[in-house]
Amino acid sequence: MSMRDFSQSHECLSINTATVRQSYGADFPLPKIIEACLERGIGAISPWRDQVAAAGLPLISKLVRTHGLKLSGYCRGGMFPAADAKGIDAADLDNRIAVDEACELNAKCLVLVVGGLPGALAGKPIHKDIQGSRNQVFDGIGKLLEYSKSCGMPLAIEPLHPMYAADRACINTLEQALDVCDALDNEQTGAIGVAVDVYHVWWDPKLQSQIERAGKNRLLAFHVCDWLTPTTDLLNDRGMMGDGVIDIPKIRGWVEAQGFVGFSEVEIFSTGNWWLRSHEEVLDTCIARHTGGFV
Ligand code: ZN
Repeated sequence: MSMRDFSQSHECLSINTATVRQSYGADFPLPKIIEACLERGIGAISPWRDQVAAAGLPLISKLVRTHGLKLSGYCRGGMFPAADAKGIDAADLDNRIAVDEACELNAKCLVLVVGGLPGALAGKPIHKDIQGSRNQVFDGIGKLLEYSKSCGMPLAIEPLHPMYAADRACINTLEQALDVCDALDNEQTGAIGVAVDVYHVWWDPKLQSQIERAGKNRLLAFHVCDWLTPTTDLLNDRGMMGDGVIDIPKIRGWVEAQGFVGFSEVEIFSTGNWWLRSHEEVLDTCIARHTGGFV
């Protein structure tokens, strides 16, 4: 099976709306992002919950329906670990609300960034028991899956680069994510799978074999950007496709060999570069790199 040809159109391009969260360094609201995408014939987005909340879910839902926008995903649920039962319950409730929002927006999946050591994101981890966190993540996903299945919303576990294990996600490889999927959904129904973000997994010696293990039913989303050398910020220095060291077309080839026909979702956090530029330049560059063979 040969790879899809993106050179003639950008119908397979999706913009993760964090990519243009800022324009010229100033907050750029989601309705404006949607407008700018539509102007360029970009028919798919993946918005963040805070951006949706700022504009109001009813407005965004209306815009999505009016313009026939597709959501390659919804960012994000997760952050399951907590210090106590009360914290666990709060996370569970918030995740069910995230599922509801994803359903309202007809998203392809709810992306899960699963969380790490409780308190670490705020700079005060309350323990060092990463296995304990992984157990809480497993339990949390299991509970959420019961709910999401009842709504028909697939859950996409996004393994994050190991540098985020403490504060953002203690699921760090595709293999780990797929172990969770297998344990919770051995029949591979499509109710749970993975989001393959090249930024997080490009270095993994088992990447190709784990993409093959995932197969079509578990490959729910494909996120692209690039790994810069040097990377100057662990969170907000993601590169534009083609500016770094990730062989994105090779990885897309592996994903598509499994039958993946979804969007290539551009997800760039860049305080020092792209967020300082105009949203027009960023979106036009995304289209040019998408059609220019870098994705
Ligand atoms: Zn991602």
